[in-house]
Amino acid sequence: DDADVKIGEDVKSPPLAGPNAMNVILVAAECAPWSKTGGLGDVAGALPKALAKRGHRVMVVAPRYGNYAELQDTGVRKRYKVNGQDMEVHYFQAYIDGVDFVFIENHMFNNLGSNIYGGNRTDILRRMVLFCKAAIEVPWHVPCGGLCYGDGNLVFIANDWHTALLPVYLKAYYHEYGLMQYARSVLVIHNIAHQGRGPVDDFSYVDLPPHYLDLFRMYDPIGGEHFNIFAAGLKSAYQIVTVSHGYAWELKTTEGGHGLHGIIQENEWKLKGIVNGIDKKEWNPRSDIHLTSDGYTNYSLETLNTGKPQCKAALQKELGLPVRADVPLVGFIGRLDNQKGVDLICEAIPWMVSQDVQLVMLGTGQPELERMLREMENRYHEKVRGWVGFSVKMAHRITAGADVLLMPSKFEPCGLNQLYAMCYGTIPVVHAVGGLKDTVQPFDPYNESGLGWTFHRAESGQLIHALGNCLFTYREYKSSWEGIQNRGMMQDLSWDNAAHQYEEVLVTAKYQW
Ligand code: ADP
Repeated sequence: DDADVKIGEDVKSPPLAGPNAMNVILVAAECAPWSKTGGLGDVAGALPKALAKRGHRVMVVAPRYGNYAELQDTGVRKRYKVNGQDMEVHYFQAYIDGVDFVFIENHMFNNLGSNIYGGNRTDILRRMVLFCKAAIEVPWHVPCGGLCYGDGNLVFIANDWHTALLPVYLKAYYHEYGLMQYARSVLVIHNIAHQGRGPVDDFSYVDLPPHYLDLFRMYDPIGGEHFNIFAAGLKSAYQIVTVSHGYAWELKTTEGGHGLHGIIQENEWKLKGIVNGIDKKEWNPRSDIHLTSDGYTNYSLETLNTGKPQCKAALQKELGLPVRADVPLVGFIGRLDNQKGVDLICEAIPWMVSQDVQLVMLGTGQPELERMLREMENRYHEKVRGWVGFSVKMAHRITAGADVLLMPSKFEPCGLNQLYAMCYGTIPVVHAVGGLKDTVQPFDPYNESGLGWTFHRAESGQLIHALGNCLFTYREYKSSWEGIQNRGMMQDLSWDNAAHQYEEVLVTAKYQW
């Protein structure tokens, strides 16, 4: 709801949410705006604020990858062992929008810059071991607003394989010794494709008693017998969340579970799908700071008919494309990874350029896909732009200026760009998987309902078919088009709703014995 978004809004001392008010500590390898490679960073930056608004005492713990300006050194220093080696961490802190942000510093994080998952497998493993060990003890050692959280009434939210050791450590180092008796852990699956796999020998890095090895030992036809951190975390967590209902279902299948489907099936009783919200301070056409210069403009549902065309013209001008209001402008934003289906877009480009269409793609990632983007721009310079780079500003401008956003992902746990697009009156054309299936109801011309176009197999022919229908509607049925835009913009996609569902999971974990 736009009305409840105030820029710079400061939630100083939120009222406690009655008897269910909890101490919540979200632990993640990335947190926007300080560090972000994808949706995980956005979630870590936004969900905690929404939980704090609901009256909980909420903290985020992330590694300190750089010298972030707003942080204070808490003066707290601790030493933890990683693979037999003593390592010191420093704890930094900031209080923003009702949330305590705690950053863990060690030279292993600081040297990475923006390449936060860089290094070889054992380097990453050592970082994650240190991070999880240091994060678990934050409520004991780091005073926030003068007072440590303590370990009573505490729920940790761990995220993806990077922090999947946390639920294991909570049991092995603390519960087994009668410590942190009332602390619980929830593990969120943002992407199951990355699992922290390695040879079984990697077990020596995680410093656990030998009988814990079985939690990590996995076998599958592709990798053979191996060591799997995500598997151990999923078994140890009290509750598991994933970022959409569609993905929760897919995780149980051989295809979607990436080898962990068996573990997911066994633990289905504690698995729940919750679709991500979006940060309406950052992604709101009414107040988007990236639309305030270079000919762009802020707009809302009321000013859509003038504001969006102005953004489109500004985008065409900025990219050196012919400035024309009537040509449909199609966008793509995302990591250049097989997951995102960029190959399908490239296969569809010859058809697209046979149409009166402009295409803008923004992304970074696999070098061969980056090359492909550049090559498409060179070959079809009149109509296609392939911008290789990570640019938050460009992502916002494309979201505002494009008419259509393509998301042909092979799999997509939640997907945020389609949500942003709908808020900006940009119509998604998506492969109906995971969160895309949850959030983009297909347009039905008979009932004038739906939010975009979907296709059901990851094939360029199907993408072309869906995009063809979309473009036909754009050209021939203006009122239907505006109806789709309006419905998209009127949705409440904010975090408030998702935070409420997370709260239910946290409460369930809290009372689980
Ligand atoms: P994933 O987490 O799989 O990367 P999501 O759609 O959940 O996919 O989130 C991607 C986030 O990263 C979005 O906020 C998107 O705008 C942003 N993003 C991805 N690639 C780029 C890029 N090249 N430049 C700017 N932002 C990007």
